[in-house]
Amino acid sequence: MGTDKSSLNDKVAVVTGASRPGGIGRAICRQLAAAGAVVVVSDLGPRATGDGPFQAPAAGELDGAVAEIEAAGGRAIAVPCDVTDPGDVDALVEAAVSKFGRLDIFVNNAGIAIESVELVEVSTPGFRKTLDVNLIGTFHGIRAAARQMIRQGAGGRIINTASQAGKSGWPMLSAYSASKFGVIGLTQVAAKELGRHGITVNAVCPGTVDTELSNSPDGIWQMYARMYGTTPEQVRQDTIAQIPLGRLQTPDDVADLVAFLASEAGGYITGEAINTTGGQEMH
Ligand code: NAD
Repeated sequence: MGTDKSSLNDKVAVVTGASRPGGIGRAICRQLAAAGAVVVVSDLGPRATGDGPFQAPAAGELDGAVAEIEAAGGRAIAVPCDVTDPGDVDALVEAAVSKFGRLDIFVNNAGIAIESVELVEVSTPGFRKTLDVNLIGTFHGIRAAARQMIRQGAGGRIINTASQAGKSGWPMLSAYSASKFGVIGLTQVAAKELGRHGITVNAVCPGTVDTELSNSPDGIWQMYARMYGTTPEQVRQDTIAQIPLGRLQTPDDVADLVAFLASEAGGYITGEAINTTGGQEMH
């Protein structure tokens, strides 16, 4: 009888930007926990205010994520962390190690999509803020996780949530697209540098996932409805029509790929930026 290559028993995982009930990060936490990992659920803490149209998660969402995992029989703790603050990200890794003794899996999932307007209208602070969270935040996570994994000497898995907007430029998402292209570049460099330590580094590129990022008042449906002079519901329907598999993506679709990359079965894959888009993006 072979071993179960999907098992994450006794692995310690950290996921950033993971508290939202309908978000991708929370689904990743649920699946890693279901596969046996101990999960450190992280997101902006009470200090955060959220800048501009971006809303910080409601108080209690981090604890809610932990409660959900525990109710399903998993193990988790919550550690607040703003990924734009390098000290916070280092402290997040330290919290995982001091509680559970090690770090095996780090998922850079935190992300924002703000100022969804044409490039000529984008403000410099909005552009900077997007890079700060999506790209520099991911850099902080890779660096902190890699330092710990190198110290441990037993390899590890780093997985970055990029986007199909990191493969092809998307109108109205100049800063977001640029940040996700950057995440893919960073993923390749880190994979080349960290391979000799047995650490794999990959990006997952989701398509159109039905989360707050898409369906909030400042979300993607609303933004394209403005651009094309139509309704958010029409944009939603048109988007579905462009997806070969004929449906929007669920957070669990993304989490399935992350769990695979984190597992022994994904052990010979590194430096990749893997689409999980129902065929919406193919390169
Ligand atoms: P979401 O808004 O539900 O989740 C993003 C999370 O990041 C939130 O919990 C938010 O609080 C957190 N966050 C924001 N700024 C942070 C900071 N400074 N420090 C720590 N956490 C911070 O949206 P989601 O759709 O679940 O997005 C998760 C990831 O997936 C993001 O990286 C996003 O870019 C990416 N993605 C989403 C889609 C989509 O269609 N929804 C598609 C492709 C990629």
